[in-house]
Amino acid sequence: MALFTKAVKGTQDVLPANSYKNRFLENTLLDIASNFGFKEIRTPVFEHTELFARGVGDTTDVVQKEMYTFLDKGGRSITLRPEGTAGAARAFLEHGLFNEPLPQKVCYITSCYRYEKPQSGRYREFHQFGVEVFGTPSPAADAELISLANEIFAFLGIDDLTLEINSIGCPKCRAEYHKALKAYFESYKEELCGTCLDRLERNPMRILDCKSPICSKIAAEAPVVLDYLCDECKEHFEKVKSYLDALNIEYKINPKIVRGLDYYTKTVFEFVSSNEKTAGLVCGGGGRYDGLIEELGGQHTPSLGFAMGLERLLSVIEAQGIELPGEQKCDIYIASIGDKASLKAAGICTDLRAEGVGAQFDIAGRSVKAQMKYADKIGAKFTCVIGDDDIEKGEVAIKNMENGEKTVLALDTFTDDFSSMWVQSAANALADSLSNEDFASLDINNLMGGLK
Ligand code: ATP
Ligand code: MG
Repeated sequence: MALFTKAVKGTQDVLPANSYKNRFLENTLLDIASNFGFKEIRTPVFEHTELFARGVGDTTDVVQKEMYTFLDKGGRSITLRPEGTAGAARAFLEHGLFNEPLPQKVCYITSCYRYEKPQSGRYREFHQFGVEVFGTPSPAADAELISLANEIFAFLGIDDLTLEINSIGCPKCRAEYHKALKAYFESYKEELCGTCLDRLERNPMRILDCKSPICSKIAAEAPVVLDYLCDECKEHFEKVKSYLDALNIEYKINPKIVRGLDYYTKTVFEFVSSNEKTAGLVCGGGGRYDGLIEELGGQHTPSLGFAMGLERLLSVIEAQGIELPGEQKCDIYIASIGDKASLKAAGICTDLRAEGVGAQFDIAGRSVKAQMKYADKIGAKFTCVIGDDDIEKGEVAIKNMENGEKTVLALDTFTDDFSSMWVQSAANALADSLSNEDFASLDINNLMGGLK
């Protein structure tokens, strides 16, 4: 087949056979975030370029190399969002959300665009689930964010991720650290890449994040930020750790994490895969950015957030062999013979769907044999064939495709009768899928307490 064109490099199609996984994941993430009090925010896919230059930081890889920036027809510089924090922070300021009760807790699922070299786990269009908490300096908030991410992984059954945390201090203690880093990297000036030479002058911490093998080898021996924290930052980090300990959340301290945003302060963290198939893949990360809101023109508003890459989350789910709940199947397929029966099938399907039943009939004008073949292929749980004589008799036999059982239903009360059967069979399936252990693990006293 000679295709006229293909999808742009680094972009992906999610096909119907797989999209249920994305849908399940997105619903789960938003539901869990909602239990933590996060409300969804939706911001535009493109913004003025200066927002990202400021909000992400113009010494970052994202801003220096990866942005999709173009002039629109009015000559304005526009950028497709490379991440979600900057847009959420802009909206927080633009709509005066700082006047609402603080902290403001927002979450989002967005597409992001970065001009990176496409490879496994790295795309030019990808998707992020992100959360932001605006307006709290408390270490409890840092732990709460980590706990949210943890809850998500636990719910999905992902247990081969390691939480790595670090503190990168505040501008006060970082000044000293920058001096030490600069002195260290100065002695490797000849070997650093061109970008890092520039970083050496503007923001030496960025060198720690450089992906070039030579720079990362030099960076491995560099002074670590934890040795330079001021008393306040030290205490903050200690408190974050004690909350994590109290919540039984395991973590590893990795003094090398600096994260890709310039305005991160204090706590930073990443979730790194330890599965052999996806080892080292960073699934998500975040931290505190106490300086960002001020940088964008607002009052001093200590804030924090994190983002997970959905494609990476799906790949660790797959690597661990986790099956996400299946796609919506066809509950009943109503085959028909002749025009009159087809009209009847269309009417019954409309009524059934109003009751929440997944119902389909032939919309391709096929023979009854071909209709049944199709019903089988799409995994219909029940089928029936309506012909003229069934309409005359006023009844039709439906077949349970799993066990072959047949039941005759009156056409007049078809929707009500089938709906009750369908609810019953769903309840039976649920009971079957719950093992004795599940029942044993139900805390009956707690349940009864909730009912009282
Ligand atoms: P990396 O170090 O892998 O480049 P990053 O520090 O640039 O990641 P963030 O800006 O923190 O990533 O974005 C948050 C999450 O978004 C990452 O942890 C990852 O899961 C995902 N992500 C980032 N870039 C991409 C990409 N190009 N393709 C797919 N997912 C990505
Ligand atoms: Mg990156």
